[in-house]
Amino acid sequence: MNISVVKSPEGIEGSGFFATSLAKVIGLARKNSIWPLPFATSCCGIEFMATMASHYDMARFGAERNSFSPRQADLLMVMGTIAKKMAIPLRQVYEQMAEPKWVIAVGACASSGGIFDTYSVLQGIDEIIPVDVYVPGCPPRPEQILDGFMKIQELVGKESLRRRNSEEYAKIQERYHIEG
Ligand code: SF4
Repeated sequence: MNISVVKSPEGIEGSGFFATSLAKVIGLARKNSIWPLPFATSCCGIEFMATMASHYDMARFGAERNSFSPRQADLLMVMGTIAKKMAIPLRQVYEQMAEPKWVIAVGACASSGGIFDTYSVLQGIDEIIPVDVYVPGCPPRPEQILDGFMKIQELVGKESLRRRNSEEYAKIQERYHIEG
């Protein structure tokens, strides 16, 4: 069996020592211990179940600890059709999550409303909350969900510790009427 060990961040090393920056160590720790909150409303949620099960095994990425409490979650994974009535609790869940937090829209419905171009369905969750990664497909296969998750890991690993205090982030918050 091939077991790959997480690579250490860039730094200077020699016999008996390794020096790097605090931001890189925090990025490394965060990206390999993401706690997802699955917000699954329909068929894409079933693909997520397969992604968590033994064959695809999201635990390999340090993300086996699903959190059903927004206050103990880093990554909101929205999977399925979001009816406009569900937009209110979805937004509430997002607001209850502590910073830093990330969002992934899994599948066509969460990303754009999918085939449900109708008055009762939200045409993409980015109408109400900011999204970091979109996973296409109806439904996306578990490989695609894992690929989207790995993109989130890249973002998390590289994110500056100060991004949440940045002007760019303040603009996103303003656009979505999020109180800091
Ligand atoms: S994108 Fe397709 S599979 Fe996913 S929830 Fe919508 S209809 Fe179902």
